[in-house]
Amino acid sequence: MKKKTMQIHRCTCKSCTEHPYGTIAQQHQAINRVLMELNEKNRRRFVGVLANEQGRGGTSQLAEITGLSRTTIVRGRKEIEHSNKKLPSGIRRAGAGRLLVEKNNLEF
Ligand SMILES: [Zn+2]
Repeated sequence: MKKKTMQIHRCTCKSCTEHPYGTIAQQHQAINRVLMELNEKNRRRFVGVLANEQGRGGTSQLAEITGLSRTTIVRGRKEIEHSNKKLPSGIRRAGAGRLLVEKNNLEF
C-alpha cells in the first residue's frame, strides 16, 4: 500500500479546537479527507461549492477549514459560477480566446 506524502489538513477552527470530536469537527475532517482524493482542479471547485453554500465569509471559513489559500477558493467559486450559467453571447469579445485576468480581487 502506497501512502502519499500529503497529509490531511487539520482544521484549526474554533469548533474543531474546542470540540475535536464534535459534529462540526467531523464534518471538517470529512471535507479534508475528500479533498485529499481530488486533483487540484476538483479540489478548488469542491471547496468553491462549499464556500458558496456559506455565503458571505465562506471563503475565509473554507480557507481555515481546508488550509487552501483564499485566492484558490475564490477561483474555485468563480469557476463553478461560470460553469453553471451560460454567458450571454454578447459578453464575449469576438476573437478573444481568453480574457485577461480581471483585476477583480474583491473579497467575498
Ligand atoms: Zn474546523
